[in-house]
This record gives sequence, structure tokens and C-alpha cells, in this order.
Amino acid sequence: MTYFDHNATSPMLPEARRVWLEATEQFIGNPSSPHRVGARAEAALNEARERLAKMLGCDALDLVWTSGATESANWVLHHTLRSSPPGAECWVSAIEHPCVLETARHHFGTRLQLVPVTPGGVVQSNWLRERLRSERPALLSVMAANNETGVLQPWRELAAMCGESGVPFLCDATQWLGRLPAAGLGACDFLIGSAHKFGGPRGVGFVKCPARGRVEPLLWGGRQEEGRRAGTENVPGVLAMVAALATRNAECETRNGEALAHRRAIREAFENRLRTGLPGAEIAGAGQERLWNTVSALMPEADCQRRWVVKLDKRGFAVSTGSACSSGREEPSHVLRAMGYSASQTSRALRFSAGWDTAEADWGALLAALVAVHRGL
Ligand code: PLP
Repeated sequence: MTYFDHNATSPMLPEARRVWLEATEQFIGNPSSPHRVGARAEAALNEARERLAKMLGCDALDLVWTSGATESANWVLHHTLRSSPPGAECWVSAIEHPCVLETARHHFGTRLQLVPVTPGGVVQSNWLRERLRSERPALLSVMAANNETGVLQPWRELAAMCGESGVPFLCDATQWLGRLPAAGLGACDFLIGSAHKFGGPRGVGFVKCPARGRVEPLLWGGRQEEGRRAGTENVPGVLAMVAALATRNAECETRNGEALAHRRAIREAFENRLRTGLPGAEIAGAGQERLWNTVSALMPEADCQRRWVVKLDKRGFAVSTGSACSSGREEPSHVLRAMGYSASQTSRALRFSAGWDTAEADWGALLAALVAVHRGL
């Protein structure tokens, strides 16, 4: 099976697996225990914290381990609700992952303000700049890279804009980390990530939040993580996560981004061939800066996206419909809708997301399979 669904989850890196296995043997103690076995586990966690902080460019004490990006997002939004004045709004880009969007809707209801995006899928920073002249939301949340289209968002500019306006900024870097350099992301007030998207284990992630000033806990019942998140830390998971990110981050920085440019060129060649091979096919976010691994393609009008997925599966390719599909039911993609696509167009979307090991030949084989499936429809 050729795997083109790395944005859903990516296989664990051998390096991460080795670190995970070793940690289960070496660090058997509970990091909160007062004996030396516990202290060793705590020291390993703190070393990992220092390592991750260095990659992101923040203080180690700003980092808290969690079970993944969903918990991290829930925590930041819970904190935002509890610490903001009554009536304050929460501004969230219209293309955020549901773990941000739905949580914000749950907590803020009608006080949730969706920030519009351009037809290319980039958040409208002019809209934000204008509104921030006179308004102060409790939070602005914009992701670093979109999980469906791969379109990169101007998080550096937004972090600076929020800093000037005194508005806390949350950046969901779940799809960016491990694919593009992590440096600078630590400048965001709140940052969230999930290990399994970049070759770490599932069920572990982190939040970067300001160490100074209180952050309202989401989980209660223990004094772990400086009293910010209760529950015994997942030591092997955290160590493996940081090992995975260190490996991927080093690849991102290889020869001044040559590795990234090469992969971007392969993706672009695939997109060009897709457009000629399947007349009527369209790439969402074409012309925008995008993750090198992600293609969101609106297929020619022939059949529904689920049938495409099944037929490609039979030919040995694991691809996705793109939209968050946690229930197994297809919802029209809110991301493509926010970009102005009609419901019928979104029903033709397929997402191909590659990994670091995906070869040019794999993209070529996928294209051949798409053409063959199209002929058969
Ligand atoms: N944010 C983005 C952009 C994602 O793509 C995902 C997962 O698809 C998440 C958050 C949630 O991550 P997790 O399911 O690991 O909590």
C-alpha cells in the first residue's frame, strides 16, 4: 500500500521507536515520585523540555506536555474563557481544525467571530489589522499550515500584530511541525502540536503557554507540570516525540532548505500532470505557499469522493477526502467552503499527503492510478 495520508497520521520514525522502547526500560519511575528513580524520569522530561524549547525558540518552562493537539486546544480555549472579561469575543480563522473551531464555538457561542480567508485559503490579515484598531478579542487563533489544503498562514505577522495590540495569539502548528523549520514558533503566546503528525507516537503532544501568569488548568487532581496539567506524564511518549521532531527538524534545515525545495518541486510536477491528465481537475490553494507534502484536488465531475477513495484503495493507494472525518461520515469541508467553493465542489475533494519517504515514483504511480480510476468511472 502506498500511503498518501500523512496529514491524518504519520508512521513512527525508527529513531522515535528506539527512544520510546529505551525509555520504557530506563525511566520506570513516576516523575513526581521523590526517590531517585522518579527523579531520573523527571530529569529526562526536563531535558526533553529544554530540547523542544530550543527548537521552537521559547523558554523551557513555557512548555507543558499533553495528550495531543486536541487536548491542547481545549485547554487554551478553556483558559481563554475563564480568564477573559464577560462578553469578550474569541476570533478564530474560518479554516481552523475542528479541535479549535468546535471548542471555541462550544465555549464562546455567539461571541465566536470567524476570521475570513481569501479564495486561496490564506487568512485575511488586512481584515484583522482593521478590526484590531478598535477591538480587543480575548484570543486570536490562526493555524500555521492548514491540514486540508496545506496553505501556509502568516503566523509570524499575526503574532507580531497581536503582540502590538495586546491580544493573546494561539497558533496550531500541528501540520507545520516536522515539515517546515520550527524556529520562531515559540514567539506565539500559545502554540500547540501533536507527536503523531511528525513521526512520534500517538496520544502525546504539547502546549506552549506563558510560564508567567496563571493558566487555568483544564485537568485537575495532581500537581504535575508546575500545577498546570494534572496526570502522570507519558515519559516514553514525550521523549519519543522530541526525538522525532529533532530528526525531522534537522531534515527541514538540510542544506538551507534544499530538501524542502526538492519535495516542493515534486509536488508541483504532480499537480501539473494531474491537471493535464484529468481535465477539469483543480488544486485548492494553487498559487499559494503550501506545505510540500499536501495536495488538495477537486476531481473532475465524475463520482463522489468516497468512491474515489475506495477505488484508489483497491489499487493500493491510501488517500483521504481531506475534511475531518472523525465520525466516518463525510461533512462538506468547512475549509473549502470558507475559500468560496460550492458544496458540490467540496464533494469532489481528495487530499493526498505525502511523507518524507514518499518518492517521486510514488507520486507518478498515484497519478497513473487516478487516471485509470477516472477512465473507469
Ligand atoms: N490540528 C490540526 C491542524 C490537525 O490536523 C489535527 C489532526 O488532524 C489536530 C489539530 C488534532 O490532533 P490530534 O488528533 O492529534 O489531537
